[in-house]
Amino acid sequence: MAFRLYNTMSSQVEEFHALRGNEVRMYACGPTVYDYGHIGNFRTFIAVDMLQRFLRQSGYTVRYVMNITDLDDKIIHNAARDGVSVQQYTAKYEKAFLEDSAMVGIEQPKLVRATEHIAPMAEFVAKLAEKDLAYRTGDGSYYFRIARFPRYGQLSKKDFSGMLDGARIDLDEYDKDSARDFALWKAPKPGEASWDTSIGAGRPGWHLECSVMSMQELGESFDLHAGGEDLIFPHHENEIAQSESLTGKTFARFWFHVRFLLVEGEKMSKSLGNFYTLRDLVLKGHKPSSIRYLLASVPYRSQLNFTFDGLKQAAVSVERLRNFRQRLTVGNFLPGSCSEIQSLASETVRRMKASLDDDLNTAQAQAAIFEMVRRANAALDANGIKQDDVPPLLAALEKFDEIFGVIKDDDGPKMKQVFEWAPTEGRDHDITPELREAVESGQLSDAEIEKKVAEMEAARRARSFKVSDALRAELTAAGVVIENTKDGVRWRRK
Ligand code: AMP
Ligand code: ZN
Repeated sequence: MAFRLYNTMSSQVEEFHALRGNEVRMYACGPTVYDYGHIGNFRTFIAVDMLQRFLRQSGYTVRYVMNITDLDDKIIHNAARDGVSVQQYTAKYEKAFLEDSAMVGIEQPKLVRATEHIAPMAEFVAKLAEKDLAYRTGDGSYYFRIARFPRYGQLSKKDFSGMLDGARIDLDEYDKDSARDFALWKAPKPGEASWDTSIGAGRPGWHLECSVMSMQELGESFDLHAGGEDLIFPHHENEIAQSESLTGKTFARFWFHVRFLLVEGEKMSKSLGNFYTLRDLVLKGHKPSSIRYLLASVPYRSQLNFTFDGLKQAAVSVERLRNFRQRLTVGNFLPGSCSEIQSLASETVRRMKASLDDDLNTAQAQAAIFEMVRRANAALDANGIKQDDVPPLLAALEKFDEIFGVIKDDDGPKMKQVFEWAPTEGRDHDITPELREAVESGQLSDAEIEKKVAEMEAARRARSFKVSDALRAELTAAGVVIENTKDGVRWRRK
């Protein structure tokens, strides 16, 4: 079955096909690097990450570009306030964004930065002005003439027919009812960063940044453009207006928008005290894999209500998957195969694909894998799994993890990074005993534990008991429980 995906432009689930052969060209609006990323931001980035992973799994080659907004009103304001350059201000948060993305298993897209594309942005404005799609005001700013783009409002389904011709707005963000000519280029203001360019001094507006960089990287028409639902208007509407009025071509074929995350049923906000960065959650002792699993568990178009109960539940789910894989990898099985298990594995792979093909229904894909784990665990308990059943079960887990990315355990080292970062920001007092314990006990990765368990076993077989006892003590100290079972030696984390 073909991949079906919701397109905000048509308000319908459509069959997805790449515009050019087997290659998908996609662009996601990345973070504005003026602060640490919060869990809402990462809901969106994880959803887009899963989309690109699934496209690859479905056989596409994916060219995935994300911008780093290292220049916008907020950044300019904060850099001027702190008396530092824009680059100095954003460097810290860009680094934090990359570390956080890696922490929650996001595969890094090709990153492009606004500040590195100022000259082409100015040229783009000049071309718009040449066609009278943009005009210059007395102070040297440029605005897009939305009256020249009759389709304005098509993405956000807003009717702007009664709008004020020539009324202007120079903020990057503004609300839905104020459709105005928006700033493409902003004249310099005292104390603010600006660049000398072919159209004069100034800086680009946020909307322009994404149009120029996406088309430069992916061409005038590309397959998919993504972001959180708040970007539909004005950001994406403006990107379409600028790009399509200049090229006369469809800018992006599919528009992919991720629904906003709520926290304990409410909009996340600093004033409500329910605002969490990824690092806040790790400081509380939660594993990055639990966070990723939870953020991935609700299909991207449905409301995700983040709760701490949900996060604990996610940790249990990840642990079940890891323990199941562990049982399969260390167990001793009789030769042969069992047809029921063989078809369980193949049926699971089929169900996972069908779920993701259905507009990325991640919840159903998770349900499919847990059904397999439940039934296969029962079979394991009853000695109903044979040697040849193990590879297909492991392959199904692998397929799942190609998208979900939670089974491999590297939580310990990642949590340690946050533990070590906290004092550098004066946040020592936010380190909970849970994080401290996790860091002290969980610094070995799965691969390291498996290696040590194998060494311990080899030493025991060679009757080098001193060596095997030392290895066992080391593993115990690292919070690893070793059990001798009829299936052989098994380990799990405390
Ligand atoms: P920003 O750094 O504010 O530009 O946002 C980066 C990305 O996160 C954008 O795609 C936003 O739409 C998205 N985003 C912001 N807040 C939330 C939220 N509460 N839930 C989901 N996505 C969000
Ligand atoms: Zn953008």
